Amino acid sequence: MDMSIGKNIQSVRKRIAAAAERSGRDPEEITLVAVTKNHTVPEIQQVIDNGLTNLGENRVQELLPKYEALGNKVSWHLIGHLQRNKVKYIIPFVYLIQSVDSIALAREIDKRSHEFGKIQDVLLEVNVSGEASKHGFSPKEVLSALDELAQLKNVNIKGLMMMAPFINDTGLLRLYFAKMKELFDTLSKQQGPSFEMLSMGMTNDFEIAIEEGSNMVRVGTAIFSP
Ligand SMILES: *Cc1c(COP(=O)(O)O)cnc(C)c1O
Repeated sequence: MDMSIGKNIQSVRKRIAAAAERSGRDPEEITLVAVTKNHTVPEIQQVIDNGLTNLGENRVQELLPKYEALGNKVSWHLIGHLQRNKVKYIIPFVYLIQSVDSIALAREIDKRSHEFGKIQDVLLEVNVSGEASKHGFSPKEVLSALDELAQLKNVNIKGLMMMAPFINDTGLLRLYFAKMKELFDTLSKQQGPSFEMLSMGMTNDFEIAIEEGSNMVRVGTAIFSP
C-alpha cells in the first residue's frame, strides 16, 4: 500500500483551495479530476478511497480495462485525443469527453450516442497557444463550431478544455489561461447555464489556471508521485 497517494491528494486539495481563495472563489467550485493514465487499478482504488470520484484517462485502450475493474461508481473523463473509430466503445459509460477537437468527431459522438440512447456531455478542446503539435479548435473557430454543433441532438456541450504549452514562462501561461477564460465567459453568455465547465490546469500549472478562472483541473503527477 502506497501511503503517499493519500498525502499527495490532501496536499493538492490544499493548494487548490488556496488558489481558489486567492482569486476570491469557493474551493467547492473547482472539480479535481485525477488523471490515472499509466497507473494500476490498485493505485486508482486508493484515489477513490481518498474521496475522488472524477477520473481522467487519455487512451480508450487503457480506459476500457479500468472501467471493467472499477465500474461506474466513479465518473470517467476521456481527456486525450479520441479517434472516431473508438467512440463506440466508450459511449456506454463515459461521463465527459473533454477532448472534442473536430466537427467530425462530434458528429460521430452524436451518432453513437443516439444509437445508445444517451445525450453525451462533452467539452470542446481549444488550442489557445496555436502550437502545431496540439489538437483543438482555434479560438476563432470555436464560435462557428458551436453553431454547427447546436444541430446535434445527442451531444451536449458543457464548456471548454485546454492544454497549456510546456513552458516555464508563468507570465505567458497566465496570459493563455486568461484568454481562455475570456473566451469562455463570452460563449457562456450565448450558450446559457449548462455551458459551465472550464477545464484547464495540470500538475505544473493548476494554481495559475485556477487564479485565472479554471473550474476543473486535471492532475496526475502531483497525485501519484512518491
Ligand atoms: C496527462 C494529462 C494530464 C495530467 O498531467 P500531469 O502533468 O501529470 O498532472 C492532464 N491533461 C491531459 C490531457 C493529460 O494527457
